[in-house]
Amino acid sequence: MPTRDICCMRCRLKGEIEVFDLNGATPLSKIFKHLGNNPFSGHMHYQCPACGIVLLVNPLDVLGDVAIKGVPAASFSKNKPLMQWISLAERMMH
Ligand SMILES: [Zn+2]
Repeated sequence: MPTRDICCMRCRLKGEIEVFDLNGATPLSKIFKHLGNNPFSGHMHYQCPACGIVLLVNPLDVLGDVAIKGVPAASFSKNKPLMQWISLAERMMH
């Protein structure tokens, strides 16, 4: 069964990624909210409930059986205009 465990690489909180109807027993403080996908890299975006940072998740990690590593989006790109464009594109998709 694919893992739902995730660890924030910034604050080290361990929790679960948001999955529709499957997080019933998990407190909200441990749920990493799904914010959408990056259409270019294919990364999924989750928000850490503790530090609030947006984490990038490699979709292939979700299919593995070890905890997913959520990498802070800022460490992938220091290019601020690009990140702003990505967040704008994601708002338009919702
Ligand atoms: Zn965090």
